[in-house]
Amino acid sequence: MPDVIEAASSGRAKCRACQQKIAKGELRFGAKVPNPFGDGEATHYYHLICAADRRPESFRETLAATELEVPDRTELERVSQLGIDHRRLPRAARAERASSGRAQCRHCKEPIGKGDLRIALEYIEDGMASGGGFIHLGCAQEYFGTTELRGRLERTSPKLEAADFEELAKVLT
Ligand SMILES: [Zn+2]
Ligand SMILES: [Zn+2]
Repeated sequence: MPDVIEAASSGRAKCRACQQKIAKGELRFGAKVPNPFGDGEATHYYHLICAADRRPESFRETLAATELEVPDRTELERVSQLGIDHRRLPRAARAERASSGRAQCRHCKEPIGKGDLRIALEYIEDGMASGGGFIHLGCAQEYFGTTELRGRLERTSPKLEAADFEELAKVLT
């Protein structure tokens, strides 16, 4: 089954990227993934913008094929293209304060100080997300090849506070 863009038939499904509910009637992206518990497929749902962030290639194809009237189509195309051009970008899962000083940055291999803002990485393979470690905020440009991460991190990091977002804004665009 191909992936789909469709109106949400209920308001119960949570977005796999930002973990927030997708409103009933809102357009959503449904990614078909192998069912881990047996035969057939399961569907993972995303807000459209979150799918552009995290599943850029399949989302881009599905967007090009849909006959639905999609709001903000140009922006969705731009964001998914960014993730196609910068292949590590879809791994940026969220920003958070380091809970300990033990994690090592995946880019520069130096430790990430306790309480520092860091970017958590997540790989999606066969539809399943797995933790991929962390990088320093300051290593974003070299690791991702772009600093255009603010929008996606703000969407997926509801626990951060205004001061944290100000700190992100100093480094990221
Ligand atoms: Zn979302
Ligand atoms: Zn680093």
